[in-house]
Amino acid sequence: MKSVLKLMAGAAIIASMHSAALAKDLVIGVSWSNFQEERWKTDEAAIKAALEASGDKYISADAQSSAAKQLTDIESLIAQGANALIVLAQDSDAIAPAIEKATAEGIPVVGYDRLIENPDAFYITFDNKEVGRMQAREVFKVKPEGNYVFIKGSSSDPNADFLFAGQMEVLQEAVDAGKIKNVGEAYTDGWKPENAQKNMEQFLTANDNKVDAVVASNDGTAGGAIAALSAQGLAGSVPVSGQDGDHAALNRVALGTQTVSVWKDARELGKKAAEIAATLAGGKTMDEIEGVQTFNGGPKGVEMKSVFLAPMPITKDNLNVVIDAGWISKDAACQGV
Ligand code: BGC
Repeated sequence: MKSVLKLMAGAAIIASMHSAALAKDLVIGVSWSNFQEERWKTDEAAIKAALEASGDKYISADAQSSAAKQLTDIESLIAQGANALIVLAQDSDAIAPAIEKATAEGIPVVGYDRLIENPDAFYITFDNKEVGRMQAREVFKVKPEGNYVFIKGSSSDPNADFLFAGQMEVLQEAVDAGKIKNVGEAYTDGWKPENAQKNMEQFLTANDNKVDAVVASNDGTAGGAIAALSAQGLAGSVPVSGQDGDHAALNRVALGTQTVSVWKDARELGKKAAEIAATLAGGKTMDEIEGVQTFNGGPKGVEMKSVFLAPMPITKDNLNVVIDAGWISKDAACQGV
């Protein structure tokens, strides 16, 4: 009797393993905005690896910075049989019709890193306001007084405003007290370093080079701003922030021309997003996602299910964190120091 029961239990386990295995052959479609920043290749590798591990299939499209191409990319991913989509939006407003269409067809959508304000989409990102606070805090530690310049992100990316809001939370008191002065603030079209450099050059000219601190919103724009500072012999004496842990930026932190790069472990974000997409495609609800929270901090106040990961500021004092995490080698980080 005992052995019959054992056999039956064994058969049930094998049957459930089989159905789990069947549920595995999912197709996850990832729509990228572009691969301009170094980080997105890391995100991509992490998504691919996670899907490979779970036995699901990765298909993708690169919108090459075109909001229009991203709309057709999403249609094509759906036509190729995507069971769920992960979308890094080039333009959060322009993408809306494609997302509505996908969710209407019952295809789960995960808004990746950048907010897509649709209650039927999931939202996974790092806490972007906190990234902004960290950037401002580190710059403010070095220059608690003086003329500040804000090199913001792309205006079509909601993260640009989340970052700026976080930066101002930290700095507003000093602005109100007249200790620091905002002498220049501009979005960076397409997050392009060359646009950041142009904006920085204009702010330097307009202020007779009297710029004491630069709050730049990512490492690419920080690089552009530092190139402009360097042309005026100011690199290294003016604090500059960034984010992403780009290898070139971490090296600038070691060399002293960049003050901070807020590190967001893209390997973790990619892995989690892949798992969430596969879980939703497998029929689970957004409420069943581990660690799910409600977010309503977007421009339209739409309530969304979300997961936020924690960023970490990297300065000269804790560069070992990214080295120990296997993000960058010591040689690459400290080249030329
Ligand atoms: C991301 C940053 C990135 C920037 C430009 C933002 O939405 O959060 O990590 O540097 O886009 O791609």
